[in-house]
This record gives sequence, structure tokens and C-alpha cells, in this order.
Amino acid sequence: MNKKLRKAVIAGNWKMNKTPEEAKELVRAIVPAAKDADCDVVVCVPYVDLFPVLEAAKGSKLGIGAQNCHWAPSGAFTGEVSAPMLSSMGVQYVIIGHSERRTYFGETDKTVNQRIRAALDNGLSVILCVGESLEQREQGVTAELVAMQTKIALGGVSGEELKRIIIAYEPIWAIGTGKTATAEQANEVCASIRSTVSSLYGSAAADALTIQYGGSMNAKNADELLSQPDVDGGLIGGASLKPDAFAQIIKAANR
Ligand code: PEP
Repeated sequence: MNKKLRKAVIAGNWKMNKTPEEAKELVRAIVPAAKDADCDVVVCVPYVDLFPVLEAAKGSKLGIGAQNCHWAPSGAFTGEVSAPMLSSMGVQYVIIGHSERRTYFGETDKTVNQRIRAALDNGLSVILCVGESLEQREQGVTAELVAMQTKIALGGVSGEELKRIIIAYEPIWAIGTGKTATAEQANEVCASIRSTVSSLYGSAAADALTIQYGGSMNAKNADELLSQPDVDGGLIGGASLKPDAFAQIIKAANR
């Protein structure tokens, strides 16, 4: 299937950066690049920045996302934020299963699946992150590991709901390290994810799925990564905090 028929999505993950005031300023600098884009552009911001960023992006084409959500609608979960809280604010996207959540905060494939359920039930679109560590890559288990993460995360997700899922392939060794996967490595794993999804939902659903690459994508390497046949966009950390670099990446996705 022609890649052009899939939606390219460039999403920024601001991680734990930007106060509400700084966030408004950054989003105002990003809005013009989103306006001219052929692809969808999203920024996933800290919880406290959601309200100001939604206000600053009102009327623009920029999609706004959070970086996680809890699986329960409400309750005794101090410090957590629920999917209904996000959707009631007008948030459209949520990142689930980022490797930093898995590594530092004990997220498991099971809780990733539970969080995805809550997000979908509340009308949110999900950016599901999967990816291997350097050790796992060296052991040659990348494809199996990523297939397992994908299958468990998507447990109970219907074909209709899959339309609100984006999968981001993010090799852990490439995140925030300046070490990027080669375009071939990125494409190979994105293609393997597509074949896993095809085995679960059929080839038409897999062909329509947006699969991003994430891991030190920047203004210089975006062109090559985004021109790969199975790479439909990017999840971008560091470079999404720099409006010029982020705009360059958006341009690369448009080509
Ligand atoms: C990320 O946080 O998802 C990410 C890919 O970060 P970076 O671009 O900084 O490697």
C-alpha cells in the first residue's frame, strides 16, 4: 500500500520541561509550522501545561496530548491523572508506555494495556511506545520483543479502536542519547510492527496504521528517517523543544 495513504504524524514529547508561561511561548512558536503542514502535528506536554497550551493553540491545527494517563476513571491514586480528566479538558492524544515510564516508574505491558483501554474509552487517541534496550538488540530479540509489547498493549482493542492508535517505535538506546537508529534499522522494526498488527487485525488495518520512529530525530536526520517506506512520522523529544528544528522535521514529513 502506498505510504501516502497513511497519515504522517509528527509529535513532540516535551517530557518534564517548560513552565506554563514557557509552554505558551513555545506553542505559539510551533503553531505556524503546524498550519503549513500536510501531516498532523501534535505536542505532548506536562499536565500543568495542558490548560495554557490548549488555550494558546485554540483555533489552530496543532493537536494537544498528555504524556500518560491512569487506567481508573477516579479514585485513591495520589499523583495520577485520569483519562476522563484529560478528555474533559479537550486533550486529544496521550502517550502510553514511553520507555522512561517503563524504566523509571515501573510501567509494565499489562499497565500499558490498561491505560490504553482507559484512553480509548474516553475518546483519546493513543501514541503507544514500544522498543528495545541496547542489550536486547545485541541479543537479537528486537523483533520478538517489540511484537510482544505490541500484542499485549493491544489486547482487547477492536479494529475500529485501532484507528485511534499510533505506534511509536523507540529504541531505548536512541532516546535522548544523540544516537539515532539508521534509517534501515528504523524501517525494519516499523515494518515488523506492521506485520504483527497485520497478524492481529488484517493487512488493510495494518496498512492504514501510522507507525512513527522516535529516538534522537532531529532537523538533520529527519529527511532520511521519514522517507523510509514504513516510517510514517516521528515522536520527537529534545528537538521538539526547539521551534526551528521541530519546523524542519515537520517539513521533512511533508515531502
Ligand atoms: C522521546 O522522548 O520519545 C524521544 C524520542 O526523545 P529524543 O528525541 O530526545 O531522543
